[in-house]
Parts: sequence; structure tokens; C-alpha cells
Amino acid sequence: MFAHFGPAGNPDAFYEAGFKASAQMPAWLAGQNLTAYEYQCSRGANVREETARLVGEKAAQYGVKLSIHAPYYISLATEDETTAANTQKHFLKTLEIASWMGADRVIFHIGGIGKQGRPQAMETAKGAFAKVLESVVARGLNNILLAPETMGKRNQLGTLEEVLEFCQMADWMIPAIDFGHLHAVSGGRYTTKEEFESVFDRVEEVLGSHIAGNAHIHFSRIEFTKAGEKRHWTFQDPYGPPHEPLLAVIAERKYTPRIICESAGTQARDAKIMQDAYRAMLNKSNNYLTTSK
Ligand SMILES: [Zn+2]
Repeated sequence: MFAHFGPAGNPDAFYEAGFKASAQMPAWLAGQNLTAYEYQCSRGANVREETARLVGEKAAQYGVKLSIHAPYYISLATEDETTAANTQKHFLKTLEIASWMGADRVIFHIGGIGKQGRPQAMETAKGAFAKVLESVVARGLNNILLAPETMGKRNQLGTLEEVLEFCQMADWMIPAIDFGHLHAVSGGRYTTKEEFESVFDRVEEVLGSHIAGNAHIHFSRIEFTKAGEKRHWTFQDPYGPPHEPLLAVIAERKYTPRIICESAGTQARDAKIMQDAYRAMLNKSNNYLTTSK
């Protein structure tokens, strides 16, 4: 069992090669030995069933694991009734698309805090999410993992602790750990192996080692200000966090997460850079084990 790597959405190189449709992505990814793809519904859950099924068929054919990023409009802590009702709809619609596509997980942002203060916002969000979970069960969509994401801005819910608290609300939930976001919101932490280890230690403590070892991970270089996340960059830009310490922890612990790269435009190339580095680390530790006997 190995970690899986792939891009969020379709990279520039895909379009530059003349491709247009997301259903062409699985074959394109397989050509680069990448085995994961995060389909973006971030600007709305409005994929046609036929398209979703085609993407799913191609992913199955080429051995690419699919996740879906739910709309950014999801706002579980909202005090506005219309936004709250729309949030419920966005969830169910995204899960329906995931079921057509055969995507095994949906990644979502918990939402902004607004004026109510952090603890109250968490209470509101958990109340709204409990309703989502009820509808999900009623529709038999609880075979699709739900993954709340750690967020990059201070005015959003989604610290590691908040994400872990959410993950305890149902047994079909896993954390989506976005290390770029953790780096941004902490003002530049998560650059050393110890810091990456501390995240996984905490996930193990709260959710157990199986979930810690099979978490969903987002990774990109990120520019930040005092408020947190400003912009995603690429592996060629001078921003953190570095990927090597993350991969070292994963290789060492024999974790098998799905790692989605969110670089700006070069997300497939940078996913491949991570995969190659990870494979090299695994080979090195295997050789070390055999030669040190
Ligand atoms: Zn996200």
C-alpha cells in the first residue's frame, strides 16, 4: 500500500496539451503515473449526471482515486436562513455528484465565523452539520467519506482541533489536512519534521492511527499575511511549507494518505515531484533495512 498523489482540478499543462474535458484527466494522469484527482465543485455543484458518470468510468478504468471539493459557498456557521438552507442543498448535491462519479470522499470548508465569535460559530456549525448528517443517512449517501478541511485564514472555522471535533460527529469522516493552510494561519510554522509529526500525533490521539494514516491531505506553497492565507504558488516559488518533511514522516510511518497538490497551475507537475520524492524515500529506507541486517 502506497500513498496516492494527484492534482486539485485541471492543470495548465492539460489544457496546453489540447485537452478540454475533465473526463480526459484520468488517462492524462495515468500517463504520468499519478493515481489521484480532486474534482472541483468549488464554484458550484452543477455537474450533469452524464458527465459525472463519464469521469467516474474513466477514473476506474485508469486506476485514479477520486475526491470532490464541495462548493466554497458552504457556510455551516451562518446566521442567515437562506444561506443555511443553501448550505444543506450544496452538501446533498455534491454528495449526489460524488455517488454518480464513484468519488469516495467529499472535502468541505466548515465556513466563516462572522460576528458571533468562535465558540458560538462552532456550535452553530455543528448544529447545521448534524442536519446534513441526518439527510445523508436518509438518502443512503453515508458510504461517501466527509472530510472537513483545516483552513488558512483566522476568520474561518477549521483549526486542526475544530476539524478533529467535527470528525467525531460521524464514523464516515476523515480530516482533510491542508498543510499550506496550517502554515499560513500559524504565521509560517509547519516547516520541520517535528511540526508535521505533531499534527499526525494529534490525529492519532483523537481519531486513531488508521484514520491518521489514511487522512486526506492538501499541499501547496502559500503566501500569507497576518490574517493568514493570501495566495497559492508553485514549487518553483520562494514560499513554504516544504514538502520533504511531510513525505519523510509519511514514508517513515508507512502511512498511505491521499495527497492532493493545489499549486497554482502546476498542481500535477508538483504532485509528481512529491510522489517521486516519496518513492525515493521509501526505496532508501527499504535498501537501508536490507543492507543493515
Ligand atoms: Zn479547500
